[in-house]
Order: sequence, then structure tokens, then C-alpha cells
Amino acid sequence: MLILKHLIYHIIIMKKIILFFAVSLTFLIGCKKEGEIIDSEIRESKIQSPPPPPTSEKTNPLFSIAIHGGAGTILRKNMSAEKEAKYKDKLEEAIRVGYEVLKNGGTSLDAVTKTINVLEDSPLFNAGKGAVFTNAGTNELDASIMDGQTLNAGASAGTTNVKNPIDLARAIMDKSPHVMMSGKGAEKFAEEQGLEIVDLKYFHTENRMKSLIRAKKREKKEPEHENKSAFYDPQIKDFKFGTVGCVALDKKGNLAAGTSTGGMTNKRWGRIGDAPIIGAGTYANNATCAVSSTGWGEFFIRAMVAHDISALMEYKGMSLKDAAHEVIHKKVGDLGGDGGIVAVDKNGNVTMEFNTAGMYRASMSDKGELKIAIYKD
Ligand code: ASP
Repeated sequence: MLILKHLIYHIIIMKKIILFFAVSLTFLIGCKKEGEIIDSEIRESKIQSPPPPPTSEKTNPLFSIAIHGGAGTILRKNMSAEKEAKYKDKLEEAIRVGYEVLKNGGTSLDAVTKTINVLEDSPLFNAGKGAVFTNAGTNELDASIMDGQTLNAGASAGTTNVKNPIDLARAIMDKSPHVMMSGKGAEKFAEEQGLEIVDLKYFHTENRMKSLIRAKKREKKEPEHENKSAFYDPQIKDFKFGTVGCVALDKKGNLAAGTSTGGMTNKRWGRIGDAPIIGAGTYANNATCAVSSTGWGEFFIRAMVAHDISALMEYKGMSLKDAAHEVIHKKVGDLGGDGGIVAVDKNGNVTMEFNTAGMYRASMSDKGELKIAIYKD
């Protein structure tokens, strides 16, 4: 009897042990499965988050550059294919110089100066070598440059023997306590700074002399135009200004603008245009944009074109494109003036706006994409 009792007792114990193991096993299997589900959920959520950026998303360029070679009555019908190619080649050569400076981490000020040097050394443009003639048959050159980071600026007006007036403007900004110098004093400063001084004959080009002769003939025929179109005559075939300018944004986010010109054919009495006037011909401010102007200078001074574009952005929150359009088409246009600008904003967006038939112009983004154009469309 006792043996039977023991046997029953052991059977019950064994059953409990078996039951315990069975329950534990089921529990462990359950946990593993659940763990696997959670693991795969985590894996999935890792794959889903963060979502990959859309490939078409627009990113701001690291740097940009734009140039102009003057605005005016530049009509396709007056231009030969050969002449057009010459202008385009020179614009490309110039902008590539500035592009390389920016690509290699150089400053926007250096890009602007070196790009303008190329255009000043070409007889094609009304700046440096190709400067137009005054009524007295002399060449009087103007230039200016501005640093958008410091709002420092330099300008020279009415110099006759400085080969590259943009270098003089830069030296005035960097190495003198002044912003603007003119005539003999500016020339003396250029010499002291070791800038290249040339014989007056250097600026004598046949084409520009022919333009002066044409302008004087017209002045005689229509003396009533003496005050205005004697030196600004869009009807004269092939007449164009040809001032040069450059704006740039460098990799550090600094903006710069520069402009260089011989002014207007047949100008008199020491006339100075907008090109060396900071705020009219040139302006740069890291908070907004960099602008270089070209056109009928008297109107660009009165409309304070370059600064006005920056001010519309700063105080009215306008985009560069809208601000430039407003100033060139409404403000300058309503006054009766004409011309254009090239500009770049602090995000590297380039705008080229003009109300004339054409403007020699080019731009390049950090991707190396080159755009060159002359006519309106
Ligand atoms: N703005 C220059 C001036 O009035 C001329 C030009 O840009 O063509 O001197």
C-alpha cells in the first residue's frame, strides 16, 4: 500500500515537472517570435526614417559670377557673325578668369578685379584700352569697386593715364583713407602705388575716334540736342556704350561689385558718370546683393540705381529679380533713362536686367554652367 502511495506521488511530481517545462518552452518560443517582430519593425522604421532628400531639390550655389560689357542699341541686324563671336569670346575669357579665382577659394574682390582687367585690356569695350573720347579728344576714365562684407569702397574719376582704372579703385579702397579720388591727384596716387601708367596714345582707337566724329557731326546738325543726345545717340548705327562690370559671390559668402568705363562719347567739362559713384554704378552689401550698372549715367545717378536695388531688398523684402526689374523698368524708365545692371544676391542668384535693345552679358554658377547673351531675346 505504501509503495503504491509513493508511486502515485512520484507520478504527480513528474507530471508537474513536465508541465512546467512545457509552459516555459511555449513562453520562450513566444518571446523569441515577438522579439523578431519588434526587431524587424525597428529595422523597417530605420529604413523609412529619415526620408531620402528628393533628388530635384534646389541648393544654393557655393559661388557665382556675372559680368556686363555695356548696354545700348545693340541690334542683331547691325552685328556681323564675326563681330558677335569676338564679343562672346572676350566675355567668356573674362568670366572664366573670375570663375577660376572663385573656384579655387579666392575672394569675390579678386574675382571682380581680375575679370574687369581682361575687359579693360580689350579694345572692344568702353573701358581701359577701348575708352571713348571726350569732346576735347581726350580719354577720361572712371571706375569703382565695393566690398559687400565691410561696405568699404574705392573709386577713381577722370584719370587719363592709368592703364587699369579698376586697379586704382581697388588701391584707393585698400591703401588709402579715402573712397574717391579724381584727375591728377588720383593719377599721382596710382603712380605711388606702382600701378601701370601708360602714354595717352595707348587709349587711342580708330573706332572710338570715328564715334566722336559722328557725334560731333550730329551735334552740329541738331544743336537742340546739345544737352542730351550729343553724347548719347541711340540712332547712330552701331552706337553702344560698352562700360564693363562684374559682380561675384565667393565661397565664404562675401559679395563684391566693380565697374569701369570711359564714360560717354563727346562728354565735356570734366563730366563724371555713374560708374565711379558708389550706390549708382556700383554697390555691394553681404546682407542683400552686389550690383554693377551700365547705361545713361546721368539717370543712373539720379535714380541711385545700384543702392536702390539693395534697399528694396533690405527694407521691402523684395527678391533681387523683382527689385532690379522695379528700378530698371519703372524708376529709370519713368525718368527717361536707359541701361541695365548685372547683380548677384547673397544666395548666389544672378539677375541681368536692362531696358535697352541689348546688353553684352555673361554669368557662371559654381557648376561651371556658362551663359552668354547680347540681345533681348
Ligand atoms: N554709365 C556710363 C556713364 O554714364 C556709360 C555706360 O555705362 O555705357 O558714364
